[in-house]
Amino acid sequence: MIFIFHFISVWFFVIIIYICRNEVYIIMQLMFHPKVTVNEYQQKGKHFTFPDLTNTLCPHCRKDYLKKHGFYSRYFISKEFSGILFIRRHICKCCGRTVSSIPYFCHPKRAYSIDFIIQVLKQYHSTTSSLKQTLERFYSYFGCSCSRQLLYQYRKRFYRNLNFLIMSFIKIFSLKETFMNCSDKERARQLLSMIHPSDPTPCDVSMMLFLDNNSTYLTQLAL
Ligand SMILES: [Zn+2]
Repeated sequence: MIFIFHFISVWFFVIIIYICRNEVYIIMQLMFHPKVTVNEYQQKGKHFTFPDLTNTLCPHCRKDYLKKHGFYSRYFISKEFSGILFIRRHICKCCGRTVSSIPYFCHPKRAYSIDFIIQVLKQYHSTTSSLKQTLERFYSYFGCSCSRQLLYQYRKRFYRNLNFLIMSFIKIFSLKETFMNCSDKERARQLLSMIHPSDPTPCDVSMMLFLDNNSTYLTQLAL
């Protein structure tokens, strides 16, 4: 899996475009591999060695170099950690737009970790047990509880993203079969069975999805 580590060693930009009041706002995100645990990242706080983008041309206008622009905080919940993480921001003085550097264990716009999201979906798709039993088993395996509502929310978005995920997985894993004729549940089960605790981890796959599509598992895709 050498190619995976090649991918995860690369920092890359993600553009999220919001259309609001007939104007287009672009928020750019840099996803990076912090090479430390969540706890170590949190303990270093604002002193963590974030990617230095001060010699990087603004990815929005490409007219000026980025400058450091403080931090914002976001809530994060994982197996090992629950609390606030600092996210480094850079700004372009020319166009006034910002770039946020997000560690790869965070899922954009989700408080729960990538591992949490993927493990609960894997548990749900790997058994015929009742939902109650599935969530109880997830709790004893993962050490975090997941509500029915949250699981339904994740499942709904994952199923909505299935075509995008399948096309990306075909590329990432060099798949020959497309398993397009199965039910949504079966297609999801097959995709999730390719994501392992290691090599590639759920975070590795998330980085590869970003690199390929600027989106990950539960990203709200443009229509
Ligand atoms: Zn700019």
